[in-house]
Amino acid sequence: MSIFTKIAEGEIPSYKCAENEEFYAFLDINPLVKGHTLVIPRREVDYIFDMNDDELARFQVFAKQVAIAIKKAFPCIKVGQAVLGLEVPHAHIHLVPMQSEKDMNFRNEKLSLSAEEMQAIADKIYSEFVK
Ligand code: 5GP
Repeated sequence: MSIFTKIAEGEIPSYKCAENEEFYAFLDINPLVKGHTLVIPRREVDYIFDMNDDELARFQVFAKQVAIAIKKAFPCIKVGQAVLGLEVPHAHIHLVPMQSEKDMNFRNEKLSLSAEEMQAIADKIYSEFVK
């Protein structure tokens, strides 16, 4: 079982931002900026482009809904999207509220936020998420 499956199933704690039956969104534990969120399918699949067209389309639409919530919670120029998957072998989309392109540089030093700050960020996004 992947670490992200354990997160989606609540076996490992996470800061939940949004969910439906098929997908789950939670804060990246090492955020580039406040509001940096990961979106995953509950189904375990490593490589995003192994998803079939219908599942991938639903995944992208869910990520869009999460991005809309992030932008409301954390006003930004745009929410950037990236897929790397070099560290965790469970498909995930990074959503990053951007004030400039520099915010999408994954080599940047990550923010160190308290548990209270992380919870407040996740709650803010969750409250904006329209199911
Ligand atoms: P990638 O696979 O896209 O290269 O990187 C994995 C991302 O997942 C990283 O940004 C990392 O901070 C995040 N990450 C790794 N393990 C955990 C975890 O246990 N919980 C959370 N919330 N994020 C994680």
